[in-house]
Amino acid sequence: MPTTIFTSPSTYVQGPGVLEELGTHLAPLGANPLIVADDTVWDLVGESVSAGLKAADIAFERVGFGRYATPEAVDSLVEKIRSGSHGVIVGLGGGSAIDAAKAAGHLADIRWASVPTAASSDAPTSALSVIYTEDGEFLEYRFFPRNPDLVLIDTAVVANAPVRFLVGGIGDALATWIEARATARGRSDTMAGARPTRSATAPAHLAWELLHENALAAIDAVEAKAVTPALEATVEACTLLSGLGFESGGLAAAHAIHNALTAAPQAHGLTHGEKVNLGTTVQLILEGAEREEIEDFIEFSTLVGLPTTLTEVGLTLEDEKELRAVSEAAVVEGETIHAMPFEVTAEMVYTALRAAEQLSRRVRARRGLPEPELHTAH
Ligand SMILES: [Zn+2]
Repeated sequence: MPTTIFTSPSTYVQGPGVLEELGTHLAPLGANPLIVADDTVWDLVGESVSAGLKAADIAFERVGFGRYATPEAVDSLVEKIRSGSHGVIVGLGGGSAIDAAKAAGHLADIRWASVPTAASSDAPTSALSVIYTEDGEFLEYRFFPRNPDLVLIDTAVVANAPVRFLVGGIGDALATWIEARATARGRSDTMAGARPTRSATAPAHLAWELLHENALAAIDAVEAKAVTPALEATVEACTLLSGLGFESGGLAAAHAIHNALTAAPQAHGLTHGEKVNLGTTVQLILEGAEREEIEDFIEFSTLVGLPTTLTEVGLTLEDEKELRAVSEAAVVEGETIHAMPFEVTAEMVYTALRAAEQLSRRVRARRGLPEPELHTAH
């Protein structure tokens, strides 16, 4: 029988105000933490973090961060860890700061912790980082032998983050079940390096269910800057459940299409989850999912505010050259699209991308939903 692997962070902490407990959870991991956070994030939560660490009698240093987790950004953090004798590194903020902190912690051989300030992606729990170029193009996945020792997410901070971040996280987490299901049906390994366990496919499905029940109410909660049970459920779905689900349950076509879209300048300015959601739509079309499932997915995405058309990622049916390039990039060797239970060619992706535009427009018109609006890159 094939080998299966399940991997996860050691500790996951979620709730309103938990940022102030960061010191307690960080203390066993190492002395003199290096906190990676950009200025915007630090302005927002720096005071709570400092107070929490001070209360636990922990000295620390904070370092700023640019926009993307580039190889250069990672290397400069490694330097910083070595010159400052830091025993643990904390990625505080969005996916890029967290990815850079993980990659640097691994290279410098110290422990690492993820402290996301929004539920904007499922990256924080995983033992891998996504590395980008200076221009924000997907460069590579880097895999580590360990997951973060700690993932801590303060839902009061999430409630005060821009609502678009949560919407992106919902898109990333909806993809998880669709991709894990495809991986389970196929014969490929997951990001954890072996066949999926049922223990990872199950949280992927639970995330899907929780989001259908709670995501719209969670968006209302963030708009009102309130922590509610619906927000707590949605944050858990987007961060822990989707994290376990994608890593040990498997990525498939949706994320490969996301990665391919990062090379299209028209799609710049969109969040990770927004691009992933078009990928999920395209995957459902590629696999010939039940009509009702695809149509319900398009409707739910539209209500949440997630793209299901080319138009919403800045492309049109006339952008032949870009659509061909995206289709080719999605099927390069090593991409997770090859975890699908059948062979996927660039031609199939190209056809499905175009079909997504037409199908979504038809479903939205029939169900009384607004027409897609053209995304303009910035
Ligand atoms: Zn993702």
